[in-house]
Amino acid sequence: MTSFQTDMSKNAEQVISGGSSSSHSVVGEGTEDDEVTVTEEEEVRSGTLLELDLLDCPVCCHALTTPIFQCDNGHIACSSCCVNLRKKCPSCTLPIGVYRCRIMERVVEAVMVPCPNAKHGCTDKFSYGKELVHEKECSFALCYCPAPSCNYAVPCNDLYLHYYDKHGRSWDRFTCGDINVVWLEMSDELFVLQERSRDGALVALQRFEEETGVYVTVNCIAPCAPGVSEFSFELSYSPYGAPGFMSFGLYKMSRIQKVSFETPDKDFMFVPHYFLDGRL
Ligand SMILES: [Zn+2]
Ligand SMILES: [Zn+2]
Ligand SMILES: [Zn+2]
Ligand SMILES: [Zn+2]
Repeated sequence: MTSFQTDMSKNAEQVISGGSSSSHSVVGEGTEDDEVTVTEEEEVRSGTLLELDLLDCPVCCHALTTPIFQCDNGHIACSSCCVNLRKKCPSCTLPIGVYRCRIMERVVEAVMVPCPNAKHGCTDKFSYGKELVHEKECSFALCYCPAPSCNYAVPCNDLYLHYYDKHGRSWDRFTCGDINVVWLEMSDELFVLQERSRDGALVALQRFEEETGVYVTVNCIAPCAPGVSEFSFELSYSPYGAPGFMSFGLYKMSRIQKVSFETPDKDFMFVPHYFLDGRL
């Protein structure tokens, strides 16, 4: 780690003092938003960086992103750490937060890493650190089978097929756009519905019993990837043989990768006990 840092700071000094004189000159003259451009004749050389954590901020250990700052001794820190440390280098107490470490910024942007879900089929590659942003909305993210005591975890499209083949029951299917009536008995905590086809999306209807009433949630089992299983829904409840009804809906059904049995803190319908008639 130390040798890597020293190296970086030497190069950084060159860049800061205006000397973008590297023989591989792949960067425009030190402008604010340096963009890496490689001329066509130039062969792109690549190698292997064995310790990817060299590209993490040594203070907070998160992936470094532009801007990266350095002190006079060449210690580096990310911009939020510079603010948190009141611009005092944690290693040598010299000021940090004014001089950018431009070579490190270039290195971080030039290192390409695969999506963490590459082993599940995602072929996207990102500059270091950006893969974590993508991971949150990667359509290959693992989703967990909602069937009790089945721990199967695969990307959602495969999970839908698995559920249909292993646990599906024809009366637990729903059709988009239709009114689908579901009786949740007082003992049921989870009811799983599947859109009416073998690869149809799974929707988990859950009830959470609390002292003052019952919380009901509707979530689609899918990653938060754009365009994947986006549904809207409306829940309504009317007590048997009594006047009145309650309803709750969302234009965008929340998506979850795994069913949780913790009482929700948002996106639920709450039915107070006095309004219940024995089933929901
Ligand atoms: Zn940091
Ligand atoms: Zn320092
Ligand atoms: Zn991905
Ligand atoms: Zn299963």
